[in-house]
Amino acid sequence: MTADDLRRFIMGKFFITTAIDYVNGPPHFGHALEKVQADTIARYERLLGKEVYFLTGADEHGMKIVRSAEEAKKSVKDFSDENVEKFKKLIKGLNISNDDFIRTSDKERHWTGARALWGKLVEAGDIYKGTYKGCYCVGCEAYVTEKDLVGGKCPYHGKEPELIEEENYFFKLSRYAGAIGEKIISGEMEVIPAARKNEILSMIERGAEDISFSRPAEKLEGWGVPVPGDESQLMYVWCDALSNYISALGYGSGNPEKFNRFWPADIHLIGKDILRFHALVWPAMLLSAGLPVPRKIMVHGFVLSGGKRMSKSSGNVIDPFDLIEKYGTDAVRYYLLREISPFEDGDITEEKFKDAYNANLANGLGNLTARIMKMSEQHLAGEAPGGDAPVRGKEALGVELGGLMENLELNRAMDGIWESVSKLDSRIQETKPFNLVKTDKDAAKKILREMVAELKKTALMLAPFLPETSQKMLSAIKHNKMPEPLFLRA
Ligand SMILES: [Zn+2]
Repeated sequence: MTADDLRRFIMGKFFITTAIDYVNGPPHFGHALEKVQADTIARYERLLGKEVYFLTGADEHGMKIVRSAEEAKKSVKDFSDENVEKFKKLIKGLNISNDDFIRTSDKERHWTGARALWGKLVEAGDIYKGTYKGCYCVGCEAYVTEKDLVGGKCPYHGKEPELIEEENYFFKLSRYAGAIGEKIISGEMEVIPAARKNEILSMIERGAEDISFSRPAEKLEGWGVPVPGDESQLMYVWCDALSNYISALGYGSGNPEKFNRFWPADIHLIGKDILRFHALVWPAMLLSAGLPVPRKIMVHGFVLSGGKRMSKSSGNVIDPFDLIEKYGTDAVRYYLLREISPFEDGDITEEKFKDAYNANLANGLGNLTARIMKMSEQHLAGEAPGGDAPVRGKEALGVELGGLMENLELNRAMDGIWESVSKLDSRIQETKPFNLVKTDKDAAKKILREMVAELKKTALMLAPFLPETSQKMLSAIKHNKMPEPLFLRA
């Protein structure tokens, strides 16, 4: 057993997931936000020494994709493949450290798990046949009830739902709602922030009806996971998509080793529009199958632009790829992690982005690093002022940052890091080591050594947030050399 193995053994495991992205179009800023948040948490947990499994993926079935493919005059498979590539490109562009990428069209990995889970629900007596009659919003890919609508229209899509009557399998959600409410209240399954916890609890209080769990295969042109034992029906999104969290771990396959190691999830990171799916339907399915529920569900808001949802008609769409290309990966990560709250709606315009970039990255962190390392290179030549020993684990990250990260307050953790940036800045102003070196060389050198040590601490704390920048800073400190500019003024 190596030292790293031992550390992982002691620290335990950490399984974090994002929602799988619905690939009926290219990725937008909401997807970027969720990926960067999850990545930062995953990197942080790895630094603590845990064995981390970070899962993301693609949700490829459903009527909306079938229709979008028709509009694009492509086969559903080609259409889906093309969009999956765009999501993978975003993952690469944002320097996301996911360990796995699951696709719901993956018959070998995903279908095996989804069908095994369906079988467990049948065994538990929780699946029955019934007639569904009601409204369906194609935009939401969901059945909607009167109380979900505003002025007869879906509040998310502004469209009237379609009336549908068909024979489906149903899942006995009503049987588990009470037990789930108790788990949320007791904290066995945490839902954060508190506003979302209250939202799901009041949904449960209003009563949870059984839900339609399959759709006729012919209506979806056969695009989906067939219901075990009844090929005329395809699984509806619940068992089709939510099961990715365990199918990716090998649930229901001949090799459940990963599943045994990593389930239950430590964090499901999701957007506020899919709270009910994750905090009610999914845990109900797990309880029915005799499996433990996730430990925590972290719910983020939407990324708006100029206070409005981004849409072509509003002309306020900002493309994550554009900003990555123009300003770099870490600039986009910076904005998403610090300028947007992890739990509330956030706002991005190119102007805001540019202002934050110039103030805090180009003129802030970039400038500070250049100034300190320039003085260090000049006046501490032949020294290793940052020390040689690598610093690891919680010690490297600081107690305060640790507390904020435990609460997943990513933006406040970033605020803390930038406090040390401005403290260092002020210290340069106050002590002026570049002047002091002319009159009291030893005193100036002592101050510089302390500054490099502080800069190193800042770089270490930045590692989960801005990994590339952190690396560049640490490398400059290690070689006692001024780095290439970390950020150019925009
Ligand atoms: Zn809708």
